[in-house]
Amino acid sequence: MKLAMIGFGQAGGKIVDRFLDYDDRTNSGIVRAAIAVNSAKADLMGLERIPQDNRVLIGQARVKGHGVGADNELGAEIAEEDIDEVQNAIDQIPTHEVDAFLIVAGMGGGTGSGGAPVLAKHLKRIYTIPVYGLGVLPGTDEGGIYTLNAARSFQTFVREVDNLLVFDNDSWRQTGESVEGGYEQINEEIVRRFGILFGAGEVTGDQEVAESVVDSSEIINTLSGGGVSTVGYASEGVELTNGGGLLSRFTADDGGDDDLDAANTTNRITSLVRKAALGRLTLPCEIEGTERALLVLAGPSEYLNRKGIERGRKWLEEETGSMEVRGGDYPRGEPEVAAAILLSGVTNVPRIKRLQQVAIEAQDNIEDIQAESEENLEELVEDDEDELEPLF
Ligand code: GDP
Repeated sequence: MKLAMIGFGQAGGKIVDRFLDYDDRTNSGIVRAAIAVNSAKADLMGLERIPQDNRVLIGQARVKGHGVGADNELGAEIAEEDIDEVQNAIDQIPTHEVDAFLIVAGMGGGTGSGGAPVLAKHLKRIYTIPVYGLGVLPGTDEGGIYTLNAARSFQTFVREVDNLLVFDNDSWRQTGESVEGGYEQINEEIVRRFGILFGAGEVTGDQEVAESVVDSSEIINTLSGGGVSTVGYASEGVELTNGGGLLSRFTADDGGDDDLDAANTTNRITSLVRKAALGRLTLPCEIEGTERALLVLAGPSEYLNRKGIERGRKWLEEETGSMEVRGGDYPRGEPEVAAAILLSGVTNVPRIKRLQQVAIEAQDNIEDIQAESEENLEELVEDDEDELEPLF
């Protein structure tokens, strides 16, 4: 499906930048337009792919291009004040050619954390197409203020979008990595997972049309109903042989012993689906109780078969208890078969409960510290016997 992506704040802008790169590499055609919004000029300048004209600096009157620190209340305020500037940039893109908006933001910071929900609310008032959010949770080691920001932004963002797709940095942190190097890999993981999912609805004429290609309306229907979503993913390589054919452990329907090959493909697909659903999700959660799901099988079409997808879909129905599990193909020329599973409307998410707990503790601590420092300052400034008078 075709998306208008808006990266809000530093993380949001960088991730949309990576989506443009992914689009170029894989020819998936999902980013119809890309915009970056930030209150920090330097962050906008650091982007590589997003066109200069689509970079919007907000809050200049208040923060003079220096960002809002990690103050997401200020982030929300300046987004509201300067929403017309963001709208001006959106006015330049062909929104009639777009299936949905995707607002991307790190929820732990200031600009994106506060601004993304404000933009979602604004877009929903104006447009009839869906407005989705892709929210990134901070790592638990980032500290109390980031956790508090994320918990408050999460509550607000989820209410304002048609669906909030969540990616948890904490589950993807690798030890020994520099923060920047780590983010590069994490961002690659983000675009791979969400790229396959949204790319599935964007199969163009020159790609082989498989038996049951996923349509963008199936993605929209899976996301409709709102709530929080997570994505599972697993892939297996297939090799290109000298003759240009494909050879792999993942048996293709290449005209050999048809029954055996088909059975093998079916089994392979089924285990790939299980790996995707039971492995690492973008937001860790219990999959039982998921309201809706979409299974996308991507790969060279000779490696995809309807029976495999059907079996995978059935298994997902049993595991999630959902009556609304969709599934289909995404034929593409990459030398791998991949299963991407969108679990929409997940509610059993201990990670969010923990985040809220830590956020409440941080909030209490901040209040205590503030009260205490006011007291301490008072004690320092006032003389003991109150004999001195201030000037005015
Ligand atoms: P903002 O510019 O004020 O919106 O704040 P940032 O986007 O810089 O940071 C918000 C949060 O996003 C941080 O706390 C990190 O958890 C996360 N973050 C920052 N940069 C990246 C990135 O490149 N990738 C990912 N996945 N997360 C990031």
